[in-house]
Amino acid sequence: MRFREVPSMIDFPKLEKSILEFWESHHIFERSLQQRASAPPFVFYEGPPTANGRPGIHHVISRSIKDLVCRYKTMQGFLVHRKAGWDTHGLPVEIEVEKDLEIQSKDQIEIYGVEKFNQKCRESVFRYLNEWNELTRRIGFWLDLEHPYITYTNEYIESVWWLLAQIWKKNLLYRGFKILPYCPRCETPLSSHETSLGYQEVTERAVTVKFPLVEGKNRYVLAWTTTPWTLPGNVALAVGPEIVYVEVEQHRDGQSEIYYLAEERLNMLQGEYTIRRRLKGTDMVSWKYRPLFEFVNLEDPEHPAYYVAPAEFVNTEEGTGVVHTAVMYGEDDYQLGVKIGLPAKHTVDEKGRFNERVPKWQGRYVKDPALEKELVDYLQSQNLLYREENYTHAYPHCWRCDSPLLYYAKKSWYLKTTAVKDQLIANNKTIQWFPKEVGEGRFGQWLENNVDWALSRDRYWGTPLNIWECGSCGYTLAVESVAMLKSLSGVEEIPDLHKPYIDEITFPCPQCKNTMTRTPEVIDCWFDSGAMPYAQFHYPFSNKELFEKNFPADFIAEGIDQTRGWFYSLLVISTLISGRASYKNCVSIELILDKEGQKMSKSRGNTVDPFVILDQYGADPLRWYLLTVNPPWVPIRFDEEEIREAIRKFFGTLVNVYGFFVLYANIDGFEYKEAPIPVEKRPEIDRWLLSTRNSLVKTVNQCLDQYELSKAGKAIEHFVIDELSNWYVRRNRRRFWKSEMGEDKLSAYQTLYETLMTLAKL
Ligand SMILES: [Zn+2]
Ligand SMILES: [Zn+2]
Repeated sequence: MRFREVPSMIDFPKLEKSILEFWESHHIFERSLQQRASAPPFVFYEGPPTANGRPGIHHVISRSIKDLVCRYKTMQGFLVHRKAGWDTHGLPVEIEVEKDLEIQSKDQIEIYGVEKFNQKCRESVFRYLNEWNELTRRIGFWLDLEHPYITYTNEYIESVWWLLAQIWKKNLLYRGFKILPYCPRCETPLSSHETSLGYQEVTERAVTVKFPLVEGKNRYVLAWTTTPWTLPGNVALAVGPEIVYVEVEQHRDGQSEIYYLAEERLNMLQGEYTIRRRLKGTDMVSWKYRPLFEFVNLEDPEHPAYYVAPAEFVNTEEGTGVVHTAVMYGEDDYQLGVKIGLPAKHTVDEKGRFNERVPKWQGRYVKDPALEKELVDYLQSQNLLYREENYTHAYPHCWRCDSPLLYYAKKSWYLKTTAVKDQLIANNKTIQWFPKEVGEGRFGQWLENNVDWALSRDRYWGTPLNIWECGSCGYTLAVESVAMLKSLSGVEEIPDLHKPYIDEITFPCPQCKNTMTRTPEVIDCWFDSGAMPYAQFHYPFSNKELFEKNFPADFIAEGIDQTRGWFYSLLVISTLISGRASYKNCVSIELILDKEGQKMSKSRGNTVDPFVILDQYGADPLRWYLLTVNPPWVPIRFDEEEIREAIRKFFGTLVNVYGFFVLYANIDGFEYKEAPIPVEKRPEIDRWLLSTRNSLVKTVNQCLDQYELSKAGKAIEHFVIDELSNWYVRRNRRRFWKSEMGEDKLSAYQTLYETLMTLAKL
């Protein structure tokens, strides 16, 4: 046997191609699993990507990290199943299809036909499947792509239904009328975790408005808002009962006017003023004022409006210390309205346009800057505007279509996550986070501020919410399996659980015998992906044992943005269902930036095509660079020069050492067929190298056990470059050059061979 020679300049892409072919033709991945079939499992969950978009360079990082950890555990003797998964439902898919069809609203989808629309969605979700599979294969990520879980399959949906039904039975799934972040373009509410994905810095028009008091002349309460569109919906002014307010006099435009605002907010005033008296919020309660717009009046006999009310949430941190209250467009406002019986009437429709209650601007989109200007000009013309300025703040936008969200009162279904908040926090403490700060900080705080999960979406392509409701007596029921639905409805075949077919299935009400129909919503697609520990195995309908062996996961790794996405939905669902966390170790991966430290984005044009890099440099150099340059939780500034340097320094040195060994081993016919020379009989420098190698193995294992991936890589790099090449090989070259194969030379061969073999396995 001769060792295979290597050229001094390795063509990595070519070499990798032959290795991939070898792996595939010999089914190495499958065999690595078969060989360990009875070994203890190390459980890995794959966070499902959406295959309707192209994979990017950040997917190479996360997939390399997953692969490294899973391979390491495999080499340690564990059985590591790696089931691929695809996220296939929800707004991301619908919006792409809307673009393809050149339609822009739900009305147009209805006209086009929900059946056809959902068919298009189904066809589109694997648009880039080939690229995903090719990337996964090309970077050497061993993943079972042959048997993935897919969130749109009937089996998957059935498992999700079962999970929802369990939560329903615990009374933790309910319908409520609440203020929700709402996208007027997609015409659906979003959950708080979705909302947190889409904050953008925006500069908006902020106005300080003069609310004219009924009593006396030229007396106004000042209130400040950044959302002028909510002013027609104003029904009250809220003051803090214990806050100190002032009555001030100011001369403006030649006349004297009286204003009320919090003493601590006097800096809101422009120009000179005189303080006439101080008073407490309680002193102002019940003062009546006139509606701002003469053509809007929301008052009715049961629900008086347009007066000053006390509220604990008022503070003096910004504005005037008086809160303009629009019951339908703010959570505090809504709660106050319920408490004191203010009118709860929308002035804005579900497309984000003023409705018939605001006749002057009926049909106009409320966030349209031109409309906003008209509205403010109107106030100015009525002498009701005190001041306006630009105000820059982070405002939530739809994470999918980029429209600014509106806080909007709407009926919607919720998971009562606040009921298990303490358990969520306790379960989070059982998770080892890498880095630790994410678990305590970002994620921990997110849990501390938990609000109920807004689950339902008024959309089409998603897991249909499995709740049927009696139109007559209001009885509701969560259907937990396809079999249950068949037996209730008498329908024998249900080939597709999606809309619109599912909505056609009805059954008699167990209470009053009238017809039960499904509530029309679909669910948040984040519930789908968070359900994967159960639904990937069609649990509990099949694979009970398999599920139990694979729950919880030992290891997951995804981008840090998943603290409000998948990391969250996984934890919530397993806490509600199994009472514990569904993962033990979580690596949170930071963003990848461009060379200058800028975020990569299509609009900036600084994204990197992973396939171009792979073709140019090869997967090993790219992976080595991404894994060693920083720990996963420190942002990488992507620099191709550093890949070239990795090739030159680390790979170049390793190849040289190997090339040196091969050259002489082949000349001398060394095959390591003879018995190993006992270590204690080898020269000191050989013993030193083997000892250093053993220390390296220990270090690398320790690092990998602690997910210190870059430290492990750097230790290997240091060993290869400094200890193996610069020290050992350089100092021992002469031993290989000797003409006769004595014990000294044999010892050198054996030592170098053993060291290279170890390196190959690390
Ligand atoms: Zn949207
Ligand atoms: Zn009924």
